[in-house]
Amino acid sequence: MMKKFETTIAVTVVDYDELSLTMQSLLAAAIMARHNAQCGYSGFAVGAAVRTLAGDIALGVNVENSNWTCTTHAEQTAVATAVTNFGANVEIEAVAVVAAHGTERINGLLDVWGPGPDGIEAIFGPCGTCRQILLENAPAKGSMTILVLQPNGTVAVMTLDDLFPMAFGPKNL
Ligand SMILES: [Zn+2]
Repeated sequence: MMKKFETTIAVTVVDYDELSLTMQSLLAAAIMARHNAQCGYSGFAVGAAVRTLAGDIALGVNVENSNWTCTTHAEQTAVATAVTNFGANVEIEAVAVVAAHGTERINGLLDVWGPGPDGIEAIFGPCGTCRQILLENAPAKGSMTILVLQPNGTVAVMTLDDLFPMAFGPKNL
């Protein structure tokens, strides 16, 4: 008997000042971290900040490598920093991500850097690899909140459960 399962995802788009103060500061941390991105090959600078259940913050940027393959992503770096600083069992309740070409400086929280080359402002989230990496340290209860600053200056708010359905994670082993 054939069975069909479907899922929907929810993305809430808000203005910066509609975020809680905690999430505002997390996004600000990602914006500041982004200035240190090592992105000389792609020119695409990404900053990430993760917040642990204990309220600690860890930062990350993309770190590009001349052989390309060894390049790491900002979310990946932030998770590695959180594990390094707070231990292997750290639970991450939220991550903020800010990504734009390096020539497009994002100096303020409300900067707008415009639509992509095709003129379309599509909502984007962390890449597939980073979704898998984030899942490893997702909170045991509830889902991880994901904030992504969008090119028009708004903030897309999602959960990892929504963005990564049917994932293979620690609970499957
Ligand atoms: Zn990624």
